[in-house]
This record gives sequence, C-alpha cells and structure tokens, in this order.
Amino acid sequence: MNLQQVLEQKLGKTIADATNEQVYYALLSVVKEMSKGKERKAGNKKVYYISAEFLIGKLLSNNLINLGIYDDVKALLAENQKDITEIEEVEPEPSLGNGGLGRLAACFLDSIATLGLNGAGVGLNYHYGLFQQVFENRKQKEVKNPWMEKESWLTKTNTSFQVTFKDFTLTSELYDIDVTGYENATNKLHLFDVATIDESLVGEGINFDKKDIAKNLTLFLYPDDSDREGQLLRIYQQYFMVSNAAQLILKEMDENGFDVKKLHEHVVVQINDTHPSMVIPELIRLLMGRGISMDEAVEIVTKTCAYTNHTILAEALEKWPISFLEEVVPHLLPIIRELDKRVKEKYDDKRVAIIDESDRVHMAHMDIHYGFSVNGVAALHTDILKESELKVFYDIYPEKFNNKTNGITFRRWLMHCNPKLAAYITELIGNGWKKDAKELEKLLKFIDDETVLEKLVAIKTENKVALKKYLAETEQIEVDENSIFDIQIKRLHEYKRQQMNALYVIYKYLEIKAGKRPETPITMIFGAKAAPAYILAKDIIHLILCLQELIANDPEVSPYLKVVMVENYNVTKASKLIPACDVSEQISLASKEASGTGNMKFMLNGAVTLGTMDGANVEIHDLVGEDNIYIFGKKSEEVIKLYETGSYSSWDIYNNDVEIKKIVDFIVGEELLAIGDAENLGRVHGDLIHKDWFMALLDVKEYIATKEKMFADYADRELWAKKMLVNTAKAGYFSSDRTIEDYNRDIWKLN
Ligand SMILES: *Cc1c(COP(=O)(O)O)cnc(C)c1O
Repeated sequence: MNLQQVLEQKLGKTIADATNEQVYYALLSVVKEMSKGKERKAGNKKVYYISAEFLIGKLLSNNLINLGIYDDVKALLAENQKDITEIEEVEPEPSLGNGGLGRLAACFLDSIATLGLNGAGVGLNYHYGLFQQVFENRKQKEVKNPWMEKESWLTKTNTSFQVTFKDFTLTSELYDIDVTGYENATNKLHLFDVATIDESLVGEGINFDKKDIAKNLTLFLYPDDSDREGQLLRIYQQYFMVSNAAQLILKEMDENGFDVKKLHEHVVVQINDTHPSMVIPELIRLLMGRGISMDEAVEIVTKTCAYTNHTILAEALEKWPISFLEEVVPHLLPIIRELDKRVKEKYDDKRVAIIDESDRVHMAHMDIHYGFSVNGVAALHTDILKESELKVFYDIYPEKFNNKTNGITFRRWLMHCNPKLAAYITELIGNGWKKDAKELEKLLKFIDDETVLEKLVAIKTENKVALKKYLAETEQIEVDENSIFDIQIKRLHEYKRQQMNALYVIYKYLEIKAGKRPETPITMIFGAKAAPAYILAKDIIHLILCLQELIANDPEVSPYLKVVMVENYNVTKASKLIPACDVSEQISLASKEASGTGNMKFMLNGAVTLGTMDGANVEIHDLVGEDNIYIFGKKSEEVIKLYETGSYSSWDIYNNDVEIKKIVDFIVGEELLAIGDAENLGRVHGDLIHKDWFMALLDVKEYIATKEKMFADYADRELWAKKMLVNTAKAGYFSSDRTIEDYNRDIWKLN
C-alpha cells in the first residue's frame, strides 16, 4: 500500500487532511512493508556485528533515501502542503548508543547492506537508552530517554532463547529493525530484550534498583558502574547479549543445514570493543554442548571471531574480577580458566595473560589470543597498538593485526543532512559519487571556478541560516549567520579537551574586553554529554555554560563572540549542526583519539579542520594537504614520551607563563564566580594546574595562535571556499563503504 492508501484505510483521511503525526506513522508502515519485500536471502557466509551500541539515529528519511523514494515522497507531501522535515520531527531518536563507537556500528550496518553483503547487527534493546541530558542551573542533569512507541521501527519476532545465569534463567525476546541498503537488499539489526522489564523501576532521574535483573536488564545502556551492583549488571547485560547472539548464530547454521564444525566457513563474528568478548567462551561452551571437543571448539571459534579495538585509554579496556563472573556466569569460568591456562603454558610473559595476578579477566587479551584478527580504527591508532599499547601481542601475532580506518555513511552525513550541497555536487559531477565516493575528487577541477566557489559559500550560508532558525526554536538562542561557526560536538572527555577550547573562549573574551575585536564575529558551538559519574566532565560543562551566560550578558563582547552549548547532543542535532559548520574542532591530545568520525562528517560537509595530529586527523591532513587544514600541538610520539618519563608538569607551565596563568585563573575569577558554582569551577581550575592529565596547557598557546590565524584567513572568502571544496572533494576515502570493503576483503571474506 502507498501512503495515500494507508491513510485512507486506517483513518479515512487524505494526506492534506492528516496531521504530521498521522503521516509519519503511515510512512512508517509503508517503509516497513517495502523493506520487508527486499529482505536478503541467506548466503553461504554471514558477518554478525555484535555491539553494545548502535547509535542509529532517526530512520525515516534514511530509509526513504535508501529505498530510492525520498524525492517522490517529499514532492508528494509538498503537493499536500506538508513539509518532510516537519514529519521527521515526529520521530523520536532511538537512544541505543553513546558516541562514535555506536555511530560507527550504525554506519557499518548501512554500508554492509548497501554493498549487498550478508550481515546483521546484534545488540540489546535498551528501553531508556543512554540518558537524555537537560541543563538545570548551568549543570547537566540526566533523565531517562524513552524512545520506544507502540508503532516503531522495531518488529517483534518469534525468536526467543533461554539464557542461564547462576541463579536463574531469562527468556529473551528478539526485536528486529530493518537495515535498508542504498538501492540494495535489506539486512537486520537484532535487538534482544526481556519481557519482564519493569519501566516503573526508574523514578526521578536515572536511578533504579540494580538488583532485580529480570526487571532491569535492558532499562539502560551503560548503567552506572561505580559500585559493585552496577558492574554486575553490566556483566549480566554483556552475557545476555552474547549468549543470545551465539544461540542465534547456531540456530541459523542449523536452518541453513551447515555443519557447526565448519562454523568459521559460514560465520564471522566481529567483536566491537570488549563488551561482546564473552561470545568467545560462550560459543566454545555451546559447541562443546554439541559434542565437539574443547580443542576443536577452541580452534573453530578462534577462526570465527575478530576483534576491533577502539581505544588506548586503559580505563576503557575491561577487566572483570573473576569473583564477579563467578556470581553471574559460573559456567563460563572453567572455559575462561582453561583458555588462560593454555596461554600461560605457551607464554611466560605476565603481560599477555588472560587472568592477571589480581584475579581479573582481561577481555581484550582473550579476544586477541582467541580471535583471528585484531584491528585498530585509524592508521595512527593501529601503529600505536602495534608499537606500544599491544606490542607484546603484536610480537606474538603480527599476522593478526590490521588497520581499518573508520568511515561514515554518505547517505546520512551528506545526502540527508545537507541536501543542497548534495544536489549541487550532483549538478557538477553527476550521480556517480553516491555509489563510488572517490568520484568526489572530480570536484577538484572547479578549484578556480569562481561561480562554483561562490555557490559553495552560498550553500554554507543557507545551512547556517537553517541552523540559526533551529537554535532559535529549540534552544531559544540567537546566532548570526555572518559569524564564523566554530563547532566542537562530541562526548565530553578530558582527552577531547573541551576545556582547552573553553580557555580559548576566555582568551577571546579578555581580548575583546581589551578592545581587540575580531574581524569576523565568532560563534563557538559546543555539544556534549558527560558520563553521569564523570565529575570533572560535568564541571567542564558547567564552565562552558557559565561562559555562555557571561558573554551573552556582556554587551561589549556579545556582538563579537557568542558561546552556545546545545542540550542533549545526539544524531539529530549533529545532522543540523554539521552542514552549517565552518571550523571543525578536533583537538584531542595526540595519541588519545583512536580515530574520530565527527572529523570526517565535518570535512565532507565543507568544514575546515582545526586539529592535532591524532586519529584520522592524520589521514585527513595527508589527503587535503597543509593548506587545507590547521594543525597544531605536540605529536603523538612526544606525548607518549611525556607519559613514559612522567615529565609533564602543568604546574610549571602555569607558573612560568603569565598569559596562561591569567586565562586559567579567570575560571575562578569574580566574573565567573558571580554566575557559577565555586566548587565546580574550582575543581576545573585545580585539576588544570595540579594534574591536567590530558595536557591542555601543553598545547593551549599553539592552539590559540593557530585558531587566530584560521579566523583571520576566513576573511578571504575565496581562499576559504577553496579549502571547503578540497575538503569535500577529498572526503571520499572516509566513506564507510570503503571501510566495509576493507573489512570484507581482509577479515570477513564474505562471498
Ligand atoms: C559522529 C558522532 C559522534 C562521534 O564524534 P567524535 O567527534 O568522532 O567523537 C558522537 N556522537 C554523535 C551523535 C555522532 O553523530
């Protein structure tokens, strides 16, 4: 049935008469029916991408694009006085992810389907997702984020498994979301849930009773794990996810009539970070349950599983105490102990053990020993893994290590979020880039074409006006489209250094107060959620919100500088912000950002990067060249050396540089204390001068100088437009279609 028919049959209405809501739900059912008709047939080999997060974003428009009917639907709606962007507003954003890692998983599903590969995502169906961020008294407050509705993209299936824990067994329910490929067949995202979840456990905020697993298991993604119960809950979640995944895999093997002894010929399991690592012992256990010997089961599973490392931050590499695993999944322990024993028999080096001397299980170590592939997510990151973080493993298994530089789907991050630019690109170079992103390089032949350059600037300005309207409506904030839009949007973490950006704001504020006004006014936009238990991250949000208020209320400064921190940064907000961006802030401490994907989205949309030589910034730099990116700061080798020698002292920098001292002390000066909370601001100040683990003061001077140069260069609109053009033209490498082709060629080998 088409849209008109659905509305007529269900509601007896025409499109023009229906409300936006009614049109949305009617479109939902039309799209679900269409995607169903395009389901992929089972193949000989399939990839299961297991991930704790899938940050899929709203799905309506992307599905319409992928099904090839977006333009028709948009036109049909317009004929009936309906605006498709208003229809989009009706859809709640599923809150199944946290940041880059989850967004990557979503882009990968899109590309797997688009390339016609046989694959599925497997994860959990969190009822309240991560959390929704609200600002209250200039502070982050977390509230639950309900996103599931009676009618949604979720489709309940009949698939169900028993998952046994130490003291009880849960019955799972499987919900599927269709993943439409761009002009290709439909794959599935499988989200497991439990029927007994009790949403009423959650009261004010995001607190709930962590004990009753049958009622709370899939309430939240990453429930607070600062206490023992929280950590146990995370283990329950992880085991529930992978046991369901493993059972699903074996069920599909059976249905296809494949011999489970040949699992590795028909299945590859991609372990996205360490959250799904227990799939290894679980698969071994299930194979042994089918009469296969331990030796053989280990061999089969090792040839089936591949691990992606996403970070070198030690706190993110999970190590579960054996006693916790005993309490949740005692039946896995004999297998994990045996796997560890085999490692210890073979290698003397304590650093490669699975179980350490404090009786903790290193999940990543299990993945590396008992998987056939270990990949990093950008060239620099993989080099750091090989040369330092995982060097002891690289020495044992050089053949397992490989790099897969991240990517983004251009369907969402250009065609959908920036239709004007997408249409203009097509006008200039034809349609080919939509299937082969490398064709964007054809844009380079217009580098001296004034008409093209002017049009690129005009489109950017239109996008800035659209963002201005959106911010006025959603955040009650006025911005000036003729100012420079400088944007830093990403999770709040000290290593990403939002605090360094805040120091720039203070610098600029003081300059303007001293009469030095910028040639072009500047709008600094932030968006970031902080983990609920990450105190300093929340303090940094407080600092930024205080600066926002200080500057907004200072008529001497506000015409030239504006700070905007958007609430509840998510995929929807990203798609509004990125097309309107001039300057993309990618300023992590070198060596700490594994890849970044925000950097790629901005580049594709014609923003110019201000960044350190970190993650995929290094590859962006190589592609666009010196003139089209602004690089500053210490290099990763220097940073790694500073950590090794323990020779970094922010205290010394602070005391030996009056300019830095003045800026840093402003955090606890009378202006900000009149607005904000002395405890929170004091903590940011104290940390910067006494600890500064991620070395903001190391790079802040060069950062300020580079940013000043960049803002001055912005005034030459033609030169800037050339930089914009080169960035878009060179972004093709960062299509997740390329990334997935790489995974498939080197790791998955699907036929
Ligand atoms: C792309 C994206 C991220 C990742 O951003 P980084 O700058 O790479 O950390 C995080 N959150 C959302 C909503 C995104 O779209």
